[in-house]
Amino acid sequence: MIKKILIANRGEIAVRVMRACREMGIASVAVFSDADKDALFTKYADESHRIGPAAASQSYLNISAIIERARQSGCDAIHPGYGFLAENPEFASACEREGIRFIGPSSRVLRLMGDKVAARREMQKAGIPVVPGANECAAGYEQAREIALEIGYPIILKPSGGGGGIGMTIVETEEALAQALEHAQAIAGTTFGIRDVYIEKYLSNPRHIEFQVLADSKGNVIHLGERECSIQRRHQKLIEESPSTVLTSELRAKMGRIATEAAGWVKYEGAGTVEFLFSEGEFYFLEVNARVQVEHPVTEMVTGIDIVKEQIRIASGLPLGCRQEDVLICGSAIECRINAEDPLNDFVPTPGKINGHRPPGGAGIRVDSGIYESSTIPPFYDPMISKLIVWGRDRNEAIERMRRALFEYVIGGVKSNILFHRAVMENERFIKGDLDTLFIESETALIDDMKRIAGREETLQQKLPCRSVDKKKVAAAVAAALAYSREKV
Ligand code: ADP
Repeated sequence: MIKKILIANRGEIAVRVMRACREMGIASVAVFSDADKDALFTKYADESHRIGPAAASQSYLNISAIIERARQSGCDAIHPGYGFLAENPEFASACEREGIRFIGPSSRVLRLMGDKVAARREMQKAGIPVVPGANECAAGYEQAREIALEIGYPIILKPSGGGGGIGMTIVETEEALAQALEHAQAIAGTTFGIRDVYIEKYLSNPRHIEFQVLADSKGNVIHLGERECSIQRRHQKLIEESPSTVLTSELRAKMGRIATEAAGWVKYEGAGTVEFLFSEGEFYFLEVNARVQVEHPVTEMVTGIDIVKEQIRIASGLPLGCRQEDVLICGSAIECRINAEDPLNDFVPTPGKINGHRPPGGAGIRVDSGIYESSTIPPFYDPMISKLIVWGRDRNEAIERMRRALFEYVIGGVKSNILFHRAVMENERFIKGDLDTLFIESETALIDDMKRIAGREETLQQKLPCRSVDKKKVAAAVAAALAYSREKV
């Protein structure tokens, strides 16, 4: 069994992994950048070591420095969390070379799944339905034009080595193709280091439905049901839930079986997610996310299975803690990603210092957070503050509970998107479960709803004595965040 784990990540996910370590009696080691010296995860760990300056390229993405810290501190495993190096095959093979267990799939599987076009090809070999599209990258304009003609417009251009929705470009007509291709390739080149893009049919109003799978080294593969992640902004998820309102138990069993076959086909080991787009009753493979995902807690809430502990068990060579027939989906869970961003100002990031903090509590509430009173949300990384997850006996109770939790949540000092989540929890279409990936773009009334809700009732934030947002400080933090994101692109 693994004895000591270095967590090569930050924020809420670092705390999440350390919680599993603590429950399992495993020592945890944090590595932190200068911007995170006083962050919650550095205090939570049994040991903490500086890794480098704030810039991720010199800290959380610095493979040799991380491996060095793992060796110095006597760790026998590294958990990469999500983002940063989580799906980087070079990092996994560096761990393999050093005899440190990488808590995730092998470098071979990461390499295969990281190349989205190769993953599509592999899934087709396994007989899994993929989104209609090309099985190779477009070499240039002429080839792109031919592929697009064959598939039919609208199409979507996607970086083959991409993630986070970055660089994905929708093209409605042939006239727009040349410029869109140039644009997508340029973004792919600067962000992912490879200009390759491939073409898929752009499905109209699909739902994003993904299956959580667990696979051990003995060849056992199970699924833990689905998560519906259709509430997205610019292809980035904001609200996730389990189960989805559209899956019958037959369809769940069918898609779940296909997801486990997909994992089995590539000899996957660890926790992973098989993502599908669901449109007009049909589902299509989108990609495999070879890591623990941000939204894993909704699955944990409805199944009672601790996914991070399962990851650690699998990496230790142990068999899965349960069989498929033991997995029961009970009730309904919803997660809201609480970000430091201003929903009334185009969701601009608003990092800064937390000044007043009281997370919600009571029945059915879980808060996975990386902050505490007077801690800082640095401008250098993703502006996520926490994840608020609720469980209810059914979806209605989960929605009512989420409304109540959002009313209770006090985060002072920085602006957050709580108001946005409150508006969605009151939205008729959301309540009916009538979702698709363009929900936010098409529900234009959400902005007015937010203003109406803000003016309607006091929340605990307004009632409790906590300092209000310091406008000057927020403006300075926003400028810093914008300067940083411009640098990054
Ligand atoms: P990334 O890895 O960059 O997050 P994904 O392939 O997982 O990209 O897609 C992210 C989101 O983009 C999907 O959930 C969906 O909303 C949208 N999307 C991706 N491909 C298509 C498609 N072919 N048609 C319609 N929407 C798509």
